[in-house]
Amino acid sequence: MSVNETQSPSRLREGLGEGLSCRPKHALPQPLPQAGGEMCTGWTREEIAALFELPFTELVFRAAEVHRANHRAGEVQLCTLLSIKTGGCPEDCGYCAQSVHADSGVEATKLLDVQEVLQRAAQAKDAGSQRFCMGAAWRNPKDRDMPAIVEIVEGVRAMGLETCMTLGMLTSRQADQLAEAGLDYYNHNIDSSPEYYERIITTRSFQDRLDTLGNVRAAGIAVCSGGIVGMGETREDRVGFIHTLATLPQHPESVPVNALVPVKGTVLGDMLADTPLAKIDDIEFVRTVAAARITMPRSMVRLSAGRESMSEATQALCFLAGANSIFTGDKLLTAPNAGDDADGALFAKLGLVPLAGEEPMRPHDSREAAE
Ligand code: SF4
Repeated sequence: MSVNETQSPSRLREGLGEGLSCRPKHALPQPLPQAGGEMCTGWTREEIAALFELPFTELVFRAAEVHRANHRAGEVQLCTLLSIKTGGCPEDCGYCAQSVHADSGVEATKLLDVQEVLQRAAQAKDAGSQRFCMGAAWRNPKDRDMPAIVEIVEGVRAMGLETCMTLGMLTSRQADQLAEAGLDYYNHNIDSSPEYYERIITTRSFQDRLDTLGNVRAAGIAVCSGGIVGMGETREDRVGFIHTLATLPQHPESVPVNALVPVKGTVLGDMLADTPLAKIDDIEFVRTVAAARITMPRSMVRLSAGRESMSEATQALCFLAGANSIFTGDKLLTAPNAGDDADGALFAKLGLVPLAGEEPMRPHDSREAAE
């Protein structure tokens, strides 16, 4: 069953009070929060909707101010993503080419050999990546998979890279195992609003997502959670998506914002092909990035899938609106990505540099602990 505002609150929402005093009144022309200010988890949907409704330049200006108050605006974090187990996933996510329910031609593979993953991580480090993200197309990892996963986390971390994994749903025991191995981040996207979620996925519920995020947070692993826009959802759904993330008891440290890459053979790819909804409007995408930045000031907001089809100008607007993390490399799991050469040229053109400092929500470099 999915969550909506009239259903019982999830464990993630426990302790969320009404009328929190930390809530900045962004819907009105009032002062913006300062760096290091209290994290506000009391946003209402109306307030977030009002952000989306602001004149575009006003919204981007406010987002840029929040960004500068909390981050070094010229720095962008570089992450590398590797699929460590591709295809054959039993889930039916309507956007995903790796689902067994899709007719996308993606072949199922086994979990990559540990040494191969470590070799790819070393290459990513040489190419300047700070974080190595690894994805497996599973509903959830089996307990028999955990020893290899633990070995991978320990090996990548020993190289001085931050580690991130996305393996599907986790039990609290599995989350604890990953935490013990030193996993820095766990990615588990909420994808969309609670209401739209059940229209794109039927094999698990929105609450399942929130439960795994709760297990990850309870284990002490930093949370990476975002979603996809351009799946045929309404603006109200985009508001609900940002609202869910911004009202978690603690904001995710990383918030990936993807633009749907419609793949032939997937439910959404086939449904949206040749319709005006096949590509999210660029301005609406930037608005979503800006709303994420304003409501979650200290999180890293990551431009993820769909970036390769954005113009340089749109990407520049996203950086202005507070995006400060990207995936590098030619491929994102199975989707195409902008590629290192294109990114290098864009960074030079925009005067951006790779993130050298610390992330605001992770002030101490946990990688040192592994060395
Ligand atoms: S998005 Fe993840 S869980 Fe959903 S079908 Fe694809 S690999 Fe499976």
